[in-house]
Amino acid sequence: MANSGSQPRFQALQTVNTRKPVMTDPPRDENGNQLKISDFYGQYTFGLKQMKQKLPTDIFKRFVQTSHSGKKMDLEVANALAHAMKEWALENGVTHYCHWFQPQTGSTAEKHDAFLTVDSSGSPIERFSGAQLIQSEPDASSFPSGGMRTTFEARGYAAWDPTSPIFLAEIGPTRTLCIPSVFISYHGDALDEKTGVLRSNEALSESACKLLHALGDTDAKAVTTTLGPEQEYFLIDRAFYTLRPDLVMTGRTLLGAHPPKGQQLEDHYFGSIPARVLSFMNEAETELFKLGVPTKTRHNEVAPMQFETAPIFEEANVAIDHNHITMEVLKRVAKKHDFELLLHEKPFKGVNGSGKHNNWSMMVSSGGSEIEGINLLEPGKTPHQNLRFLLFLMATLKGVHKHAGLLRAAIASSGNDHRLGANEAPPAIISVFLGNMLDNMLNEIEKDTHKDLNYTEAVIRLGVSRLPTVMKDNTDRNRTSPFAFTGNKFEFRAVGASASCSLPVTLLNCAVADGINEITASLTEKMKTSKSREEAIFSVVKEAIKETKAVRFEGNGYSDDWVKEAEKRGLPHLKTTPEALHEIASPQSIKLLSGLKVFSEEEIRSRFHVRIEIYNKKVMIEGETLQTIAETQILPAAYQYTTILAEGVAAGKALGLQAPQVEVLSKLYQTLSLAQAELKRMDRTLTQIRSMESEEAKAEKVAEELKPAMESLRTQCDALETMVADDFWPLPKYREMLFLS
Ligand code: ADP
Ligand code: MG
Repeated sequence: MANSGSQPRFQALQTVNTRKPVMTDPPRDENGNQLKISDFYGQYTFGLKQMKQKLPTDIFKRFVQTSHSGKKMDLEVANALAHAMKEWALENGVTHYCHWFQPQTGSTAEKHDAFLTVDSSGSPIERFSGAQLIQSEPDASSFPSGGMRTTFEARGYAAWDPTSPIFLAEIGPTRTLCIPSVFISYHGDALDEKTGVLRSNEALSESACKLLHALGDTDAKAVTTTLGPEQEYFLIDRAFYTLRPDLVMTGRTLLGAHPPKGQQLEDHYFGSIPARVLSFMNEAETELFKLGVPTKTRHNEVAPMQFETAPIFEEANVAIDHNHITMEVLKRVAKKHDFELLLHEKPFKGVNGSGKHNNWSMMVSSGGSEIEGINLLEPGKTPHQNLRFLLFLMATLKGVHKHAGLLRAAIASSGNDHRLGANEAPPAIISVFLGNMLDNMLNEIEKDTHKDLNYTEAVIRLGVSRLPTVMKDNTDRNRTSPFAFTGNKFEFRAVGASASCSLPVTLLNCAVADGINEITASLTEKMKTSKSREEAIFSVVKEAIKETKAVRFEGNGYSDDWVKEAEKRGLPHLKTTPEALHEIASPQSIKLLSGLKVFSEEEIRSRFHVRIEIYNKKVMIEGETLQTIAETQILPAAYQYTTILAEGVAAGKALGLQAPQVEVLSKLYQTLSLAQAELKRMDRTLTQIRSMESEEAKAEKVAEELKPAMESLRTQCDALETMVADDFWPLPKYREMLFLS
């Protein structure tokens, strides 16, 4: 029988209450002096700096030339690089290398090979050739491919992406040389997430350069997308975590009654960071700095035990790799500090979920000195820059408007379904927030308020140049928008915390490339008949403003009115992952993605199938976990307590007394039998789904029947939690896990 002494939950509470911060020594020099971050930043990367030091000048130059050209690296260069890398790795105590890539599971994968080989005389020797660097041995038939390959030819290979720095992963005493790679089939199909990012970046670059050339910025040679992903997460003490099978199996709590104090007091946001958490953050950041990840900001988030880290933005491809590294390092270091780090979008019901705000923009990455490094969403100072900004802004709006369904699909996952539209996160409707000033500006252009002025004067009068300063003071922010302009970039906020940024960035790049292409076509047409380029630009901008009006929304995205309004405007409202995913493979999406040569129709279908399957698997695991917890922990605990209560009531009756517990007892019995019935219903649904063949049909049933069944069972279990004596309750409660003393 349970009592306070024997409940593992109470032991966990005691453990947690007596924990001290885990201190780690900061990096020091030979004399024991603490190093500055800049002294050890990037120490575990083999980037341009190390290459320049270790390679002959000619080889280094040839590497820089080919690395961004997308062309195959010449073997002489690759051999020299491989040799230098191996030397560097051996100096750093590395024994193995791996091609590090992103399969469609959403995380990363690696297979290690030793540098060690045996030469012809039988002597051991460390070797690493250019061919080994450029391409891995074929392998990995068990990664999800969405039916793209039949099993007998289900072999792909990893190919080095020289645009992302090679790094050295340190786990305990083991150090591995990691080579960021794409993962493709023999036919060249993308089996991974990175290939799409690289291809979409090229597509966008090509489109953007054409528009820049049409605007007279003829020096522009390449445009890249920039990304700064803000990462939210929860920390839970491991003593609690290990007692919650739901957290262990699914990353979220499948049940748990709401605590009396939630986030109502809003005292956590930007509050002081608890000491244990700060030591964790410090150690994680030190590791990230060594890996050349530019982690910049850390703070408490809205919910109790929720935090955020944000980097300095980088080229999107590198930023995405760095975000993967960040998630891995955070999770690993958290364990050292006796925390489990939760990246799930909704670990606790009734408490804010976690997102990953994707700050995104376009930057000229190659061109003359006038234009290189320019952020194309930066309003700029001169009328020319202002007009260029307006065109790229409208291209983005056009892309998001036309492909809103596809962008919704980009962020679809079982975890994110709990968050989107949950009155705390952007709704499942994609709209764009521009801020009062910019919104008014577009309205003025649309109404032609400046028609009496010449175009240069009109641009100045509109005040585009003042935008960044006005927007920086943060008064004009709307947290409820899934896609918001924040002065010189967009913030795609609807991305889930656990998601890879790859697909969202890929699809966003494609949508915007499409917008840019339409703008360029229309501008070229109008320039034939307009008196000046400015006149043509104004006319294109005006048309785009009219066309994209429906997607602009400045109001409260959490309100029910918006849902109705959005429907009236014809914006897609795709509530569940299965509904949303169909947008990936819609005729319009196929036309877009294959037209830009980012994904073939087969690659698109593969993405659709992989994601549907992952959705089904995840929710099924949740259902089965909930079933086990209810059957083996919750119901037995409730029965045990009910029995004792019943004994007390019976004893009272024997004495001729009406025990006050009678009412509690009858409520307990009722709830127990309701829970039992809900469990049965869920069991039946699980069995039915298991016997189904089609993943699409399964997904529908998962969304329409399994999830509601889980929710109903949870409601009864949570009610039991509020009735059963604390001593008997087997799972750590929300109030215990979420409030660190
Ligand atoms: P806030 O969103 O509060 O204004 P910041 O402006 O510092 O905060 O930016 C948040 C994130 O956006 C950071 O990761 C930052 O590096 C990134 N960011 C800033 N400028 C750009 C840009 N041009 N492209 C992509 N990301 C950017
Ligand atoms: Mg932000």
